[in-house]
Amino acid sequence: MPELPEAVVMARQMDETVQFKTITSVDIAQPKILNRPVDDLTKTLPQRIIEKVYPYGKWIGLQLSDDVRLMISLGMGGEIIYFKQGETPPEKSRFILHFSDGTGFYITLWWFGYVHLVLPDETHVMTDSQGPNPLTMDAMAFHALLDKRKGAIKSFLLNQKRIRGIGNFYIQEILFRARIHPLRPIPSLSTAEIDQLFQSIHSVFNESIDLDSSWYEQDFFGNKGQYTLENMSLSFKEGDLCPKCQTQIKKIKTGSTSQYICSACQTL
Ligand SMILES: [Zn+2]
Repeated sequence: MPELPEAVVMARQMDETVQFKTITSVDIAQPKILNRPVDDLTKTLPQRIIEKVYPYGKWIGLQLSDDVRLMISLGMGGEIIYFKQGETPPEKSRFILHFSDGTGFYITLWWFGYVHLVLPDETHVMTDSQGPNPLTMDAMAFHALLDKRKGAIKSFLLNQKRIRGIGNFYIQEILFRARIHPLRPIPSLSTAEIDQLFQSIHSVFNESIDLDSSWYEQDFFGNKGQYTLENMSLSFKEGDLCPKCQTQIKKIKTGSTSQYICSACQTL
């Protein structure tokens, strides 16, 4: 499932490739991914220009002319792939956008996904209600975000309404590098630990972005990213050793999720 690094890389590639292109038509094979009737999209999208493509948490936002937005979420195993003039999108495409120069992109979905059309002055609840982008905030804002919050740090960081873009894959490495146990109550975190956590989010995400994000997602051109498990210091295997202290890694339950930790480096 894409997280912020995958969205950053995808949005950057899309922006470089389709910015200022004019939409001519749209094919929709799966209306349930939409937030409104198919007709609304087939009427609204043609003749609109892609002004900007940007990451929004785990989502991709397309800013179109006349203040229209298209918000895309891929879920697990979904893809957004560019096609050149003369190329035909595959049968499995759920949504296809065609541009006036014969190029376009198609979306395939494996599990679930959304393509939402947001008209001027409309609110898009699923994204507009999300918390700040961790990569564009400063450490002071991050401290303020955690101020007076209760509950465990992991569930806070995974809650998109609090902070957007962190998911189950990167959270393990983020918490390990900060030496913080996932179930630590937020009020128990010291100023230094919160600083470390903030640094850790930035270092993990930026490392992945520099490597075109994770190997398990395809980019806009169908290529896989270069960020693999080898780039993570803590492995996803019980019994492997912590690279810092050589303690055996163990898997623990963290509410509805689970993850690997070093119980010596990450104490409760
Ligand atoms: Zn350790």
